[in-house]
Amino acid sequence: MFNIILFGPPGSGKGTQSEKLISKYGLKHLSTGDILRSEIAGQTPLGQAAKSYMDKGQLVPDEVVIEMISSSLDNNPGAYGFLFDGFPRTTAQAEALDKLLSQKKTEIAVVLALQVSQQELVERLLNRGLTSGRSDDVDESVIGARIAEYEKKTAAVAEYYRKYEKVVFIKGEGSIDEIFDLLCKEIDRLISAQQVSH
Ligand code: AMP
Repeated sequence: MFNIILFGPPGSGKGTQSEKLISKYGLKHLSTGDILRSEIAGQTPLGQAAKSYMDKGQLVPDEVVIEMISSSLDNNPGAYGFLFDGFPRTTAQAEALDKLLSQKKTEIAVVLALQVSQQELVERLLNRGLTSGRSDDVDESVIGARIAEYEKKTAAVAEYYRKYEKVVFIKGEGSIDEIFDLLCKEIDRLISAQQVSH
């Protein structure tokens, strides 16, 4: 299997790049944000519980998202690999993911970390709010809270994977295609290295 984490702050382009990457590499896209929004749309108890956190720009509790990812892994036994988008967002989630993957005799191949300046993030999110239908993209104070959560809890996830030398930083500013090309170069390099070692 070949598993990737696409990492970065809110507005760094994870969703956009994920769509392109999954279609090029045949990976299964696991976005905890998308799963949570579909739970909210379906008015499930999980969605209702998560909504109050999401509306404030806060992270949903670890147990909730870990359980969601655990079932998604179980529900896709034949996948060639997974692209994790918006997960893990805390060190506890990263540890849980490593455990879940090792139970399936696999691991994270690489963490591709998109780097975008804070000013550009806020501009992109406000812009996205005009069309995304996401209430958490409209209010500047909620956007600020999401970026603050990222700095307080999520940035540490890159440190966690750096210990295992799995993080590659990618310049997340430029055109969508330029950024996509940078991501693909890294992935192609890793896939050929994996083929050589097998
Ligand atoms: P996203 O679509 O990735 O920007 O996520 C939107 C919101 O969903 C976040 O602001 C959080 O409230 C929640 N969320 C998504 N993924 C996670 C996660 N891995 N851990 C905790 N909360 C999450």
